[in-house]
Amino acid sequence: MSVRLKHGREKPLLRRHPWVMSGSIDSTKTAVSGDVVAVLNSQGKLLGYGDYDAESQIRVRMHHFTDSVPEEEVWLRARLEDAYAQRETHPLLQRTNAFRWVNAEADGLPGLTVDRYADWVVVKASTPAMQRRTSMIAEVITQRVKPDGIYIRGDAASVAPAEAISIDEHGREYWIDLKSGQKTGFYLDQRDARELFRELAAGTSALDLFAYSGGFAAAALQGGAKSAVAVDSSYDAIELLKRNAAEAEAVGTDVNEFLRQETKNFDLISVDPPPFAKRKRDVDAACRAYKDLNLRTFKRANPGAHILTFTCSHHISAELFRKVIAGAALDAGREVEFLRPLSAPVDHPVSSAHPEGEYLKGLLVRVRS
Ligand code: SAH
Repeated sequence: MSVRLKHGREKPLLRRHPWVMSGSIDSTKTAVSGDVVAVLNSQGKLLGYGDYDAESQIRVRMHHFTDSVPEEEVWLRARLEDAYAQRETHPLLQRTNAFRWVNAEADGLPGLTVDRYADWVVVKASTPAMQRRTSMIAEVITQRVKPDGIYIRGDAASVAPAEAISIDEHGREYWIDLKSGQKTGFYLDQRDARELFRELAAGTSALDLFAYSGGFAAAALQGGAKSAVAVDSSYDAIELLKRNAAEAEAVGTDVNEFLRQETKNFDLISVDPPPFAKRKRDVDAACRAYKDLNLRTFKRANPGAHILTFTCSHHISAELFRKVIAGAALDAGREVEFLRPLSAPVDHPVSSAHPEGEYLKGLLVRVRS
């Protein structure tokens, strides 16, 4: 089973970029989705091995740039254990019992995410090859951490806990719905930003826009906010939010609607929308949407307010996002400054060979006047 690349298309692979796009492939020999294929350059020289997916534009996801591949169980186990060891002892992950154990390409396991939530583990396999390996993966997880249970998303035979389970992040208890929650149940990628929100919260009136289960609102209340308002349009999210941030005012409505009607101002605001640009061609429309949203948000900020604003669109770069926010401030007639860039925490590493792995970018903004 092999694929042969078109002339000149091996360059990204020589830099260890893990994706072979369908347009780079000249011919394919006997491969079906889920196979491990040898990847050859146009002259037939072996470049490495990866997982084949006939349905995806990303036709092969590389996991070995070597002459041969060890037995599957051996390399899977090694990579899962290495990823776990890095998180388990990482100084920045000692105050949480929930973290991303495997971050796909960045951990040498393309198409796989594994999240640990206290005594539960959630596995999400997004390629046929990883789906084929889930029982092997579950076996390694069981041996490594002996969890109460492993929930494999998208596998009809896998059983999620009947009730919400709770995790402890920096002394806050969050209830999580593993079965029908968003992501794998919780936005682990906003842990650092929630911590910052807590640090900035003392004495403030806080506003958590796109609150999901109340992650930011709960952090603000823990940090001594005078009040917290949390807005999300999902009914299920609001139910969890009431549990996670009981003191917050939960508003189950569309954020744009909320911002159109609200007349109060706030001292601390998080703006954490879903990705507006899912595809490259959506970037312009998405920029307008981010601008509108942030413009309306700036209008609700007290002078001196801190705003944490985010995009989780792969296709919007940090630089572009900064321009959009600058434009929003200008149109809102506010003078603002950028205090620091924000990104996902250390359990969501980005491989230097695979910049596409970065999706979450944010800014800590201060409204001067
Ligand atoms: N800040 C959250 C994660 C937010 S994810 C955390 O740290 O956990 C984005 C959320 O936006 C989802 O919960 C989704 O239900 C909500 N959402 C999407 N579009 C919305 C809209 N137009 N108005 C209000 N909420 C929206």
